[in-house]
Amino acid sequence: MTQETNNIPYLIDSHCHLDHRYFAAKDGEADTIDMMLNRARMNNVRGFVTICCEITKFQEALDVANLYDDVWCSVGTHPHDAEKVEEKNYTVQDIIEFSKHRKVIGIGETGLDYFYKNSPIEDQKENFRKHIRVCQQTGLPLIVHTRDADEDTIQILREEQGNAPFSGVLHCFSSGRRLMEEAVEMGMYVSFSGIVTFNRSDELRAIAKDVPLDRLLVETDAPYLAPQAFRGKQNEPSYVTFTARKIAELKEMDEDKFYRQTTENFYRLFDKAQKD
Ligand SMILES: [Zn+2]
Ligand SMILES: [Zn+2]
Repeated sequence: MTQETNNIPYLIDSHCHLDHRYFAAKDGEADTIDMMLNRARMNNVRGFVTICCEITKFQEALDVANLYDDVWCSVGTHPHDAEKVEEKNYTVQDIIEFSKHRKVIGIGETGLDYFYKNSPIEDQKENFRKHIRVCQQTGLPLIVHTRDADEDTIQILREEQGNAPFSGVLHCFSSGRRLMEEAVEMGMYVSFSGIVTFNRSDELRAIAKDVPLDRLLVETDAPYLAPQAFRGKQNEPSYVTFTARKIAELKEMDEDKFYRQTTENFYRLFDKAQKD
């Protein structure tokens, strides 16, 4: 980073999906991921974590991360894919091996999704615990996806924290207050996406307002969940600014200060990410 940009507050999109299959170049255009990342950088979004959902496709996430200094990635199996035999076949040790790559800074996304229930609950729970074991052994943070599964999420996190400590983040938070409070008490972080800008999200905004400042992260979850201003369109990392603005407003704080705080939080949690 150059001298002039050093002091400008910037955001990090702590959770997006930059696989080429989502952002395929259309009509012979130049690489759209390239252009998209540049748009984000011009909006002072200067770091991106591209999240793996299936370990069989880990290489795709790693390929994108390898192309750019400011992109990192994760490795893990999404709860939607927990029942897939190929995913089940990866052991704790296998995931630990993948996680040794310098670009891998977190484990997931994984967790419980009882809204879609694309995989049986038992498979989801087993998959969730497998990834927690990896975090307990490597010290890497867990990236948790949880939807309509507050009680089981709390129970598994508590039980496993009792076995051995680990850090992590509840990504794209849209659950109830108790889950937020339990997670904070366990030392975990809470990340908000464009959902917090939706018209109907009053309850979520009330929760976001109460997350301690040093535990907040922001993300887009692009290409999904564009903020209210772009509702229904393809989401992209530069739009994380809308989420940041909204939460800064809820916290009644200066946007610059909010940028610095969440970025500091990011580097504290994802401590394998190198600041340049
Ligand atoms: Zn998710
Ligand atoms: Zn995601």
